Amino acid sequence: MTSCEYANIIIDISHEKVDRLFQYRIPDRLKEKIDVGSPVEVPFGRGNTLRKGYVMELTDEANWEPSKIKEILNIPADSESAEEISIKLAAWMKKYYGSTMIAALKTVLPVTKKQNKQVHKFVSLRMNLREATEYYHECVSKKQKARERIMAELLATPDERIPYELITGKLHVTAATLKSLSDKGIIRIDEEEYFRKPVAGDSSRYGTKELSPEQKEIVDSFVSDYDTGKRDTYLIHGITGSGKTEVYIALIDEIIKRGRQAIVLIPEIALTYQTLMRFYRHFGDRVSVMNSSLSPGEKYDQMERARTGDIDIIIGPRSALFTPFPNTGIIIIDEEHESTYKSESMPKFHARETAIELAKLVPGGASVVLGSATPSLESYYRAEKGQYHLFELKRRLTGGTLPQVEIADLREELRSGNRSIFSRRLQELMEDRLSKGEQAMLFINRRGLAGFVSCRSCGYVFKCPHCDVSLSEHRGGRLVCHYCGYEQPLTKICPKCGSKYVSSFRAGTQQIEDEVKKFWPGARTLRMDADTTRTKGSYDKILSAFAAKEADVLVGTQMIVKGHDFPDVTLVGILAADMSLYASDYRASERTFQLLTQAAGRAGRGEKPGNVVIQTYEPEHYSIQTAKNQDYEAFYEEEIAYRDLLRYPPISHMMSVQIMSYDEELGMQFANRLRAIMEQNKKDGAIFIGPASAAIGKINDVYRMAVYVKMDDYQGLIEYKDMLEKYIRGLEDEGKLKKISVQFDFDPVNGF
Ligand code: ADP
Ligand code: ZN
Ligand code: ZN
Repeated sequence: MTSCEYANIIIDISHEKVDRLFQYRIPDRLKEKIDVGSPVEVPFGRGNTLRKGYVMELTDEANWEPSKIKEILNIPADSESAEEISIKLAAWMKKYYGSTMIAALKTVLPVTKKQNKQVHKFVSLRMNLREATEYYHECVSKKQKARERIMAELLATPDERIPYELITGKLHVTAATLKSLSDKGIIRIDEEEYFRKPVAGDSSRYGTKELSPEQKEIVDSFVSDYDTGKRDTYLIHGITGSGKTEVYIALIDEIIKRGRQAIVLIPEIALTYQTLMRFYRHFGDRVSVMNSSLSPGEKYDQMERARTGDIDIIIGPRSALFTPFPNTGIIIIDEEHESTYKSESMPKFHARETAIELAKLVPGGASVVLGSATPSLESYYRAEKGQYHLFELKRRLTGGTLPQVEIADLREELRSGNRSIFSRRLQELMEDRLSKGEQAMLFINRRGLAGFVSCRSCGYVFKCPHCDVSLSEHRGGRLVCHYCGYEQPLTKICPKCGSKYVSSFRAGTQQIEDEVKKFWPGARTLRMDADTTRTKGSYDKILSAFAAKEADVLVGTQMIVKGHDFPDVTLVGILAADMSLYASDYRASERTFQLLTQAAGRAGRGEKPGNVVIQTYEPEHYSIQTAKNQDYEAFYEEEIAYRDLLRYPPISHMMSVQIMSYDEELGMQFANRLRAIMEQNKKDGAIFIGPASAAIGKINDVYRMAVYVKMDDYQGLIEYKDMLEKYIRGLEDEGKLKKISVQFDFDPVNGF
């Protein structure tokens, strides 16, 4: 499959050494069979010992004296080691998303920095219940919040040991506090070496709940498929609280009984103390958690435990997908619609697609289970087409009433003279809740760089006539489309109603917090946004503080709407639902629907009923209407029709060719060049758009622009990518590509 003369090969498969390549000649008889990623046998070193290596690059250029380059001996028979699977997966990622083989390998291979043996620490209660309860009340009255939090958790399950990291990490109790509690004889901190295998049956210490008929049907259907050898992708569509996590636990039980392992992906931001404890309670030490705050040594340790069979389950964000289990049986992706499942660096892979590919590669095959209250358009579309198996969980098992959702029309507010950022209805409800000592969350939808311009009187939004996405305000009073580059001057008068209230919407969390303090001087506020969560642990700290009722109002960005249960929150205000609606990319409506649905789900989780107020300039928009009615299917029908009309994914596929350059003009010329190359090789059904300046036109003095190609056939896009990669590599080899870099993004999820 290659016409190249030479192959650059890695011999040591490790994250650290993938850059060390050795060049070999490809004998003619093997040219048919060799491709990037292929395993090969080569003579290595002075003694020419036979070693196994993998092809990373193919080239016609000899790195030194051609007569001295050794020849590849053979292609070994297919083996299925964990290593082999990683390499195959990397080769697939390289092909499917575009990147170098080395970058792809670095993504899938875990780091191998050894560290000293770790001990596992657990915290448990040392006092009897009566004394502990007394001490808890003492902490409450002394306002010792951290102590109060940990005592509350320990008292809730007095016979249990809680992993130490969970308390420091997720409950945000410092090591010093724990030591002091231990010194006083209130808690016990036990140390144990890792790698302790629990006795058989130990993992069912905390029995599974009796599943509801709907839950049971999912598990039975999965198990029956599994046992007849059928491997599939399943989508569980169920609102928060409908019992998805309980189903995951039951499925994992079944998989472990069959001697295989489970990978559970949960976006880091949604991985709460409560969720982790449910897994620990059920599986004990057989489960391990990965997160971004682990050191390389700790990560290595986790990977070793997986490799050697000391754990059966790993829970973590996107990168946990590459856990080297000997025999993965199930990959679960919770909140599968989350944009964090798409990598933002090369290769820009999506965890969902990559999981499905990995599931095919593991020996015997694995199944993939996706779960969400608001499935991505991709997954639901595939489920509709029968590519995924769809399950619905329609009932909330937690009790609690669904919140009452109202829409506040901001155009109305302006007309009646209310210029504050709070609608009258929201003000009224805020006062009511503050007077009752209940909690409120105020959420500003800042997703997707809202530079859109609208009329505050009638709600009109300036949009691109070609792409149906919002135009963004740029310097010099221009309105620009980030897909096709269309421009128009910014007018001060609304073209629809003639009012002069045309402006871009700008309000930040800081401003909202200030306004809250102005309106309700007695209210205690907490703020959560990119600024206040910069330091390690600050995110969990704010949430813990709010859960402990250290504040009345939590103001924040979309971070505050993920996965947390606050029983005393009875009011959620969504201040500018439109912000994400008019982000300048085709997923704007989908994201808005997801965010509004999630935010609304925050109210009324406890006994008390909740209210939600959605403030918007465009109350009729289907994202807002369907979110108000909590009607996913209705949203899906509208949205898929829009994607169909404009050939956006998942109906079609889209490749974004992203160009970065210190020189704006040079970058633009190059972008036009790339478009021309593709157009000269026009394929059926390909639609070219751009080049245009990216949504973020410049970062750190580097200009960013993109060309887009839409095509029904993904393979066609891959061919375009290969064509451009080849052209770019040619220029690089000649030293002609200076000050410019290019990346590819397939079916983009995150704006560029
Ligand atoms: P989701 O993951 O969909 O948000 P969970 O699995 O967390 O839902 O379930 C929500 C709540 O309902 C949890 O408190 C859980 O313990 C409880 N629950 C789930 N399944 C059952 C069941 N079959 N019987 C009783 N309670 C259940
Ligand atoms: Zn207007
Ligand atoms: Zn456009």
